[in-house]
Amino acid sequence: MSRARVIPAVDLLLGHPEVQALTARHGAGPVRDALDAAIQGLRTALLAGDARDIVDRTDAEAALLARIAIAFATRRRAALQPVINATGVIIHTNLGRAPLGSGALAAMREVAAGYCTLEFDLASGQRGSRHALLDRSLREATGADSGLVTNNTAAAMTVALAALAAGREVIISRGELVEIGGGFRVPDILRMSGAVLREVGTTNRTRVADYAAAVSPRTGAILRVHPSNFRMAGFTDRPGLGDLAAMARRLEVPLLEDQGSGWLGLDLFDADAFPAETRALLADEPAVRASVRQGADVVGFSGDKLLGGPQCGILVGRQDLLDRIRAHPLMRAVRADKLTYAALDATLQAFTQGRAMSDVPVVRMLAEPAEAIEARATRLHDRLRDDHADVRLEGGWSTIGGGSAPGSAVATTLVSVGTDAADRLLARMRDGTPPVIARIVDDRVCADLRTVDPASDQVLADALTMALALR
Ligand SMILES: *Cc1c(COP(=O)(O)O)cnc(C)c1O
Repeated sequence: MSRARVIPAVDLLLGHPEVQALTARHGAGPVRDALDAAIQGLRTALLAGDARDIVDRTDAEAALLARIAIAFATRRRAALQPVINATGVIIHTNLGRAPLGSGALAAMREVAAGYCTLEFDLASGQRGSRHALLDRSLREATGADSGLVTNNTAAAMTVALAALAAGREVIISRGELVEIGGGFRVPDILRMSGAVLREVGTTNRTRVADYAAAVSPRTGAILRVHPSNFRMAGFTDRPGLGDLAAMARRLEVPLLEDQGSGWLGLDLFDADAFPAETRALLADEPAVRASVRQGADVVGFSGDKLLGGPQCGILVGRQDLLDRIRAHPLMRAVRADKLTYAALDATLQAFTQGRAMSDVPVVRMLAEPAEAIEARATRLHDRLRDDHADVRLEGGWSTIGGGSAPGSAVATTLVSVGTDAADRLLARMRDGTPPVIARIVDDRVCADLRTVDPASDQVLADALTMALALR
């Protein structure tokens, strides 16, 4: 009789507690595949007369369990793993900032799979420049004369300052010499670009006259920085951008603004596009289109914060200044790749064609009404309640993150789970497939669905169910 008859039926193996534990961690599909492969391997070995120590069903079962345990223990996970962000922090830098919309993904896919006009002019058949590629899209989205793209805002500000003010003074308010997340320190960026820092005013108050008094033949530029993740209250004063721009124009000094968030402006949306609370919050957020209107000569911002696009830095502004920046040798070192251009262009067009609400996930997350989140949270709550006694719906706050709108938050509904060891549950959620990242509030594990794609609600529910079952 065939020695392979000692191999147990797959269904029997799938019911084994060890296999079920693997299924809970890695998902049914991958475990079934691993089991099929292990059975195939064992069958081949037995029929070839190998694996002499396997004589009965118990031996075969033990051998198969050992094989798939090793397969999963040594399985190499991709370096970069997709996770579900249930933290409620929309622009989460550690989790890759903005998720891209379907238009951006399709554009990237198309360009990635073949060749493209990255540096090629179809009309003339001659070499083109990537640094002018998004000129039109950026003009339409921001109202500026011209625009260019770099790897990130740190690079964009460095090259802008190097091109416009190396060896000269850059005037900046003492209140704006800030550090932004991930080690972006304004004085360091200035030094790296070869410019000389010229501080004016005081930490809490700087007036237009302070800037004007510092302008001299040595001046290369005036720099204005959105303090981003930092907010001062009390006895403070900071000139309006328009007033600063008028003075800079009168004295013929370029005014650079590090705007940061890339929020384009509420004027691109219908009046009722956002819930009132969120609308008020966004009305307070500095907007790129407003900066351009108010006369900033060059505005720098990120592609992957409130613009909701790929990681990149963007500079928009006066044509003559942008041309000087494009010509600087550092542009070669900070240039963006074709995938970035494809995704950014599609994202910008979603805004200018009135599709941002459906096509840009960051905008969708910002705009999702509290009632819609509550309805999704209720479904998750009801599902988890079947498995676990201590699940609650609670009011809470989602945050924008990424240094935008510091200290401000949008109302949300949290699904909270009580457990005697909240950090252990969080760890099991991180260990699942897909990993789920959540946070602890008052000793309870809380999931905020605002930052979860509604299409992933079911996957999240399954992942949470498994993490709770493994307690
Ligand atoms: C986020 C931010 C930066 C850094 O942008 P990166 O694209 O991450 O380099 C710089 N300045 C401001 C004001 C920011 O908010």
